[in-house]
Amino acid sequence: MELSERLDDVRARISAAETNAGRSHGAVQLVAVSKTFEAEAIRPAIAGGQRVFGENRVQESQGKWPDLKAETPDIELHLIGPLQSNKAADAVALFDVIETVDREKIARALADETKRQGKLVRLYVQVNTGMEPQKAGIAPEETEAFVELCRGELGLQIEGLMCIPPAEENPGPHFALLARLAKQCGLDRLSMGMSGDYETAIAFGATSVRIGSAIFGAR
Ligand SMILES: *Cc1c(COP(=O)(O)O)cnc(C)c1O
Repeated sequence: MELSERLDDVRARISAAETNAGRSHGAVQLVAVSKTFEAEAIRPAIAGGQRVFGENRVQESQGKWPDLKAETPDIELHLIGPLQSNKAADAVALFDVIETVDREKIARALADETKRQGKLVRLYVQVNTGMEPQKAGIAPEETEAFVELCRGELGLQIEGLMCIPPAEENPGPHFALLARLAKQCGLDRLSMGMSGDYETAIAFGATSVRIGSAIFGAR
Protein backbone atom coordinates (compact mmCIF):
# COMPACT_ATOMS: atom_id res chain seq x y z
CA MET A 1 0.00 0.00 0.00
CA GLU A 2 1.13 3.54 -0.76
CA LEU A 3 1.44 6.10 1.98
CA SER A 4 -1.53 8.01 0.57
CA GLU A 5 -3.73 4.91 0.87
CA ARG A 6 -2.61 4.25 4.44
CA LEU A 7 -3.29 7.88 5.31
CA ASP A 8 -6.77 7.65 3.77
CA ASP A 9 -7.40 4.42 5.66
CA VAL A 10 -6.43 6.00 9.00
CA ARG A 11 -8.62 9.03 8.27
CA ALA A 12 -11.57 6.76 7.45
CA ARG A 13 -11.09 4.80 10.67
CA ILE A 14 -10.87 7.96 12.75
CA SER A 15 -14.05 9.15 11.14
CA ALA A 16 -15.84 5.85 11.82
CA ALA A 17 -14.61 5.85 15.43
CA GLU A 18 -15.95 9.39 15.89
CA THR A 19 -19.33 8.29 14.60
CA ASN A 20 -19.37 5.15 16.77
CA ALA A 21 -18.57 7.24 19.83
CA GLY A 22 -21.35 9.71 19.01
CA ARG A 23 -18.83 12.45 18.48
CA SER A 24 -18.91 15.05 15.76
CA HIS A 25 -17.00 14.64 12.53
CA GLY A 26 -13.61 16.30 12.85
CA ALA A 27 -13.61 16.11 16.66
CA VAL A 28 -10.32 14.20 16.59
CA GLN A 29 -7.12 15.66 15.22
CA LEU A 30 -4.64 13.34 13.52
CA VAL A 31 -1.01 13.90 14.55
CA ALA A 32 1.11 11.98 12.02
CA VAL A 33 4.20 10.72 13.84
CA SER A 34 7.13 10.93 11.43
CA LYS A 35 10.01 10.11 13.83
CA THR A 36 12.91 8.21 12.20
CA PHE A 37 11.59 9.03 8.70
CA GLU A 38 13.43 11.44 6.48
CA ALA A 39 11.98 14.45 4.68
CA GLU A 40 11.59 12.42 1.46
CA ALA A 41 9.28 9.99 3.23
CA ILE A 42 7.29 12.80 4.89
CA ARG A 43 6.58 14.87 1.75
CA PRO A 44 3.95 12.42 0.39
CA ALA A 45 1.96 12.87 3.60
CA ILE A 46 2.14 16.64 3.21
CA ALA A 47 1.10 16.25 -0.43
CA GLY A 48 -1.84 14.18 0.82
CA GLY A 49 -3.03 17.15 2.86
CA GLN A 50 -1.62 16.20 6.27
CA ARG A 51 -0.49 19.27 8.18
CA VAL A 52 -0.03 18.14 11.79
CA PHE A 53 3.07 16.08 12.59
CA GLY A 54 4.69 14.65 15.71
CA GLU A 55 8.37 14.02 16.42
CA ASN A 56 10.04 12.65 19.51
CA ARG A 57 13.53 14.15 19.25
CA VAL A 58 14.47 17.82 19.07
CA GLN A 59 17.77 17.26 17.31
CA GLU A 60 16.38 14.89 14.68
CA SER A 61 13.58 17.38 14.00
CA GLN A 62 16.02 20.24 13.50
CA GLY A 63 17.55 18.26 10.65
CA LYS A 64 14.38 17.98 8.57
CA TRP A 65 11.57 20.28 9.70
CA PRO A 66 12.95 23.80 9.06
CA ASP A 67 13.01 23.03 5.30
CA LEU A 68 9.65 21.24 5.31
CA LYS A 69 8.07 24.10 7.25
CA ALA A 70 9.54 26.62 4.83
CA GLU A 71 7.99 24.69 1.93
CA THR A 72 4.59 24.42 3.65
CA PRO A 73 4.14 27.23 6.19
CA ASP A 74 0.88 25.99 7.73
CA ILE A 75 2.45 22.85 9.17
CA GLU A 76 1.90 22.33 12.90
CA LEU A 77 4.71 20.44 14.61
CA HIS A 78 4.25 18.60 17.93
CA LEU A 79 7.03 17.42 20.23
CA ILE A 80 5.87 14.11 21.70
CA GLY A 81 9.16 12.85 23.17
CA PRO A 82 10.94 13.69 26.42
CA LEU A 83 12.42 17.18 26.63
CA GLN A 84 15.63 18.10 28.48
CA SER A 85 15.80 21.65 29.80
CA ASN A 86 19.03 22.34 27.87
CA LYS A 87 16.97 21.76 24.69
CA ALA A 88 14.08 24.01 25.74
CA ALA A 89 15.26 26.96 23.61
CA ASP A 90 15.54 24.81 20.47
CA ALA A 91 12.20 23.14 21.17
CA VAL A 92 10.38 26.45 21.64
CA ALA A 93 11.93 27.79 18.44
CA LEU A 94 10.88 24.81 16.28
CA PHE A 95 7.70 23.30 17.76
CA ASP A 96 4.16 24.69 17.81
CA VAL A 97 2.97 22.26 20.48
CA ILE A 98 4.97 20.52 23.22
CA GLU A 99 3.08 17.52 24.62
CA THR A 100 5.60 16.30 27.17
CA VAL A 101 5.66 18.83 30.00
CA ASP A 102 6.05 16.63 33.07
CA ARG A 103 8.14 18.34 35.75
CA GLU A 104 8.72 21.71 37.31
CA LYS A 105 12.21 22.16 35.90
CA ILE A 106 11.07 21.79 32.31
CA ALA A 107 7.96 23.91 32.91
CA ARG A 108 10.15 26.73 34.25
CA ALA A 109 12.55 26.42 31.31
CA LEU A 110 9.60 26.64 28.89
CA ALA A 111 8.15 29.65 30.72
CA ASP A 112 11.51 31.44 30.45
CA GLU A 113 12.04 30.53 26.81
CA THR A 114 8.57 31.39 25.55
CA LYS A 115 8.96 34.80 27.20
CA ARG A 116 12.45 35.32 25.83
CA GLN A 117 11.49 34.30 22.28
CA GLY A 118 8.08 35.97 22.44
CA LYS A 119 6.56 32.78 21.08
CA LEU A 120 3.35 31.16 22.19
CA VAL A 121 3.77 27.39 22.33
CA ARG A 122 0.76 25.26 23.15
CA LEU A 123 1.46 22.76 25.92
CA TYR A 124 0.22 19.40 27.17
CA VAL A 125 1.12 17.81 30.49
CA GLN A 126 2.23 14.19 30.10
CA VAL A 127 0.81 11.85 32.74
CA ASN A 128 2.41 8.49 33.58
CA THR A 129 -0.93 6.75 33.99
CA GLY A 130 0.70 3.34 34.46
CA MET A 131 3.21 4.67 37.04
CA GLU A 132 5.97 2.97 35.04
CA PRO A 133 9.39 3.81 36.52
CA GLN A 134 11.12 4.02 33.11
CA LYS A 135 8.45 6.19 31.55
CA ALA A 136 8.23 9.99 31.52
CA GLY A 137 5.17 11.78 32.84
CA ILE A 138 3.87 13.17 36.10
CA ALA A 139 2.14 10.84 38.56
CA PRO A 140 -1.67 10.88 38.26
CA GLU A 141 -2.17 12.16 41.82
CA GLU A 142 0.24 15.05 41.25
CA THR A 143 -1.32 16.16 37.97
CA GLU A 144 -3.81 18.69 39.28
CA ALA A 145 -1.29 20.52 41.46
CA PHE A 146 1.25 20.53 38.63
CA VAL A 147 -1.22 21.95 36.12
CA GLU A 148 -2.10 24.59 38.73
CA LEU A 149 1.57 25.54 39.15
CA CYS A 150 2.05 25.79 35.38
CA ARG A 151 -1.00 27.96 34.87
CA GLY A 152 -0.63 30.08 37.96
CA GLU A 153 2.88 30.93 39.03
CA LEU A 154 4.50 30.09 35.68
CA GLY A 155 1.83 31.69 33.48
CA LEU A 156 1.86 28.84 30.96
CA GLN A 157 -1.12 27.97 28.82
CA ILE A 158 -1.83 24.30 29.31
CA GLU A 159 -4.07 22.97 26.58
CA GLY A 160 -4.56 19.37 27.66
CA LEU A 161 -3.15 16.09 28.95
CA MET A 162 -1.21 13.37 27.15
CA CYS A 163 -0.45 9.74 28.03
CA ILE A 164 1.25 6.62 26.68
CA PRO A 165 -0.34 3.58 28.36
CA PRO A 166 1.87 0.61 29.32
CA ALA A 167 2.51 -1.47 26.20
CA GLU A 168 1.28 -4.74 27.71
CA GLU A 169 -1.94 -3.50 29.29
CA ASN A 170 -5.47 -2.93 28.12
CA PRO A 171 -5.30 0.82 27.34
CA GLY A 172 -8.94 1.61 28.13
CA PRO A 173 -8.53 2.22 31.88
CA HIS A 174 -5.54 4.49 31.18
CA PHE A 175 -7.51 6.55 28.68
CA ALA A 176 -10.38 6.77 31.17
CA LEU A 177 -8.00 7.93 33.91
CA LEU A 178 -6.53 10.63 31.66
CA ALA A 179 -10.02 11.85 30.76
CA ARG A 180 -10.98 11.99 34.45
CA LEU A 181 -7.82 13.92 35.38
CA ALA A 182 -8.38 16.39 32.54
CA LYS A 183 -11.88 17.04 33.77
CA GLN A 184 -10.58 17.68 37.30
CA CYS A 185 -8.14 20.19 35.86
CA GLY A 186 -10.76 21.88 33.67
CA LEU A 187 -8.97 20.81 30.49
CA ASP A 188 -10.80 19.55 27.43
CA ARG A 189 -7.99 18.31 25.18
CA LEU A 190 -6.70 14.73 25.40
CA SER A 191 -3.75 13.45 23.36
CA MET A 192 -4.02 9.67 23.54
CA GLY A 193 -4.06 6.73 21.16
CA MET A 194 -1.40 5.39 18.77
CA SER A 195 -1.48 3.02 15.77
CA GLY A 196 -2.57 0.03 17.85
CA ASP A 197 -5.26 1.60 20.00
CA TYR A 198 -6.49 4.89 18.53
CA GLU A 199 -10.05 3.74 17.97
CA THR A 200 -10.29 2.80 21.66
CA ALA A 201 -8.80 6.18 22.60
CA ILE A 202 -11.42 7.97 20.51
CA ALA A 203 -14.16 6.05 22.32
CA PHE A 204 -12.69 7.37 25.60
CA GLY A 205 -12.65 10.97 24.38
CA ALA A 206 -9.30 11.52 22.66
CA THR A 207 -9.20 14.88 20.89
CA SER A 208 -5.93 14.02 19.15
CA VAL A 209 -4.36 10.70 18.23
CA ARG A 210 -0.65 10.24 17.50
CA ILE A 211 -0.21 7.76 14.68
CA GLY A 212 3.12 6.70 13.21
CA SER A 213 3.54 3.18 11.85
CA ALA A 214 -0.02 2.87 10.47
CA ILE A 215 0.83 5.80 8.16
CA PHE A 216 4.57 5.66 7.53
CA GLY A 217 5.15 1.91 7.94
CA ALA A 218 7.26 -0.04 10.41
CA ARG A 219 10.26 1.71 12.00
C1 LIG B 1 6.22 6.76 18.32
C2 LIG B 1 5.15 7.39 19.11
C3 LIG B 1 3.82 7.34 18.67
C4 LIG B 1 3.36 6.62 17.42
O1 LIG B 1 3.45 5.25 17.59
P1 LIG B 1 2.87 4.23 16.49
O2 LIG B 1 2.63 2.99 17.26
O3 LIG B 1 3.93 4.10 15.46
O4 LIG B 1 1.63 4.82 15.96
C5 LIG B 1 2.85 7.98 19.45
N1 LIG B 1 3.19 8.64 20.57
C6 LIG B 1 4.46 8.72 21.02
C7 LIG B 1 4.74 9.46 22.27
C8 LIG B 1 5.48 8.09 20.30
O5 LIG B 1 6.74 8.18 20.76
